Amino acid sequence: MKIKSVVILLFVVNFIGLNMIAVDILAQERRERVKIRIIYPAQEEVRDGGVLDDPMDILVLVNKDWSLPEYFEADDLVVPNIPYLSRVARENRLLREEAALALEKLFAQAKEDGIKLYGVSAYRSYARQKFLFDYYTKKLGEEEAKRLSAKPGHSEHQSGLAIDLTSSSVGYGLTENFGETKEGKWLAQVGPEFGFIIRYPQGREDTTGYSYEPWHIRYVGEEAALEIHKRGIVLEEYLGK
Ligand SMILES: [Zn+2]
Repeated sequence: MKIKSVVILLFVVNFIGLNMIAVDILAQERRERVKIRIIYPAQEEVRDGGVLDDPMDILVLVNKDWSLPEYFEADDLVVPNIPYLSRVARENRLLREEAALALEKLFAQAKEDGIKLYGVSAYRSYARQKFLFDYYTKKLGEEEAKRLSAKPGHSEHQSGLAIDLTSSSVGYGLTENFGETKEGKWLAQVGPEFGFIIRYPQGREDTTGYSYEPWHIRYVGEEAALEIHKRGIVLEEYLGK
């Protein structure tokens, strides 16, 4: 009886020990991943351009030409305290801490102004984006997949600085009509005061690579957001890219 207990005990200790090693290796891998601070352009040429080399920079540029490193994940992701549609998974509620705090302030202002907004999709991991893109590619072919979804590494949602918002006036969907609602107009107008821009404005597809998305806001910090808004430009132009 005693021997049996000791064997079980040893087994349990061993099991926990192995698990702890596994957890530690995972944590180490994660730290190493986060340490990668290089941004790879989609083309072969490597442009060595200051702030854009750092995926943790608040002004990081992620678009069809510029991507985040594979499996890059910011190490300061948190869930902002704002209302989300109930179906949104925890991972997709995450934002970089600075963006999350700014978003909470934006929502507090919205409340004061009688505007009700809801979070739909914020952070999306490289793995999730890859899964989506591969799924669309398999189902519809690469051309159509590219139209519907960003290639892995090329979604701004991976940066932890972007979030899609909606309201009841568009049936909680993500649609161009949102830009015409009082919530959409308020967001475009007031967002910059809190560091958020409408990342894909109407008629700017030539530069941003995306058609109008009044629901997709990107945190760039107050200074950049106010200037982008005032000059009516897009992030690519602000960064001179
Ligand atoms: Zn979006």
